[in-house]
Amino acid sequence: MKRRVIILLALALVCAGQCAANSRLDDAFAGAQKIDLRTCDVSSVVILRDKVGIPPPSATVLVKVFERDKLPSVLESSFAREGVAGVTINGRYIAILKTQLRDEYTDVLRHELVHAYITLASPAPLPLWFQEGSAVYYSMGKDRKFYGQAVEERPGTMVGRTVELPESYKQQLQTFKYLLQTVGEKDFNAWYKQAVITGVVDPKPLLGLASQEKPTHKASRKRSAKWLFGLLAGAIAVVMVIAYFSSRYDRNYS
Ligand SMILES: [Zn+2]
Repeated sequence: MKRRVIILLALALVCAGQCAANSRLDDAFAGAQKIDLRTCDVSSVVILRDKVGIPPPSATVLVKVFERDKLPSVLESSFAREGVAGVTINGRYIAILKTQLRDEYTDVLRHELVHAYITLASPAPLPLWFQEGSAVYYSMGKDRKFYGQAVEERPGTMVGRTVELPESYKQQLQTFKYLLQTVGEKDFNAWYKQAVITGVVDPKPLLGLASQEKPTHKASRKRSAKWLFGLLAGAIAVVMVIAYFSSRYDRNYS
């Protein structure tokens, strides 16, 4: 009984903290662009919705561009690591650092909208390898990319930079490409859709291997305890998925 009271108190505290964090996020995202995933025409969303066939979540996603030196305090820690170009918080809030390179902005937006889409569409938190593999695969789609464009005010001048993925992201992208090449697009898409809408992302059955997940009564009880713990931890920490782009070097052409 005593234990139940402690759990209820902890939950109340967590909820209060969560409400405060959400209201700070709502303040930071005042005036943000509102995106409806059911009608959005950004390419990564179109693929997930129309090609893979994952029913689009109805929640509105807020997208806002911030300047690095004018970040609201609620976002500072998300951008503390060097190379982070965008973050998606709770699948609902997307913050993107201002860049003058249009194509870079588009790729970051594509990347973050994948996080938002699959986070909102899944009944359970998706593991990091699946989140980042998805986001990288459906946005940049390769290890490194050069973004360049002409400077309008200075004819004949180009500005650009090369963005290279961190090693962990490269590996996750490789995993996705390997799965796709091994089983083909049709089977891959069917598995991917099921993975997102069930939250079960084990790729072994897709590859014809025995799944590790054999739900027994004991295992499912253990899983629900784990789930509660995960919920508490998640609520305290504010679930965030960080788009981590590392820039190799800046380039100017004249
Ligand atoms: Zn990401």
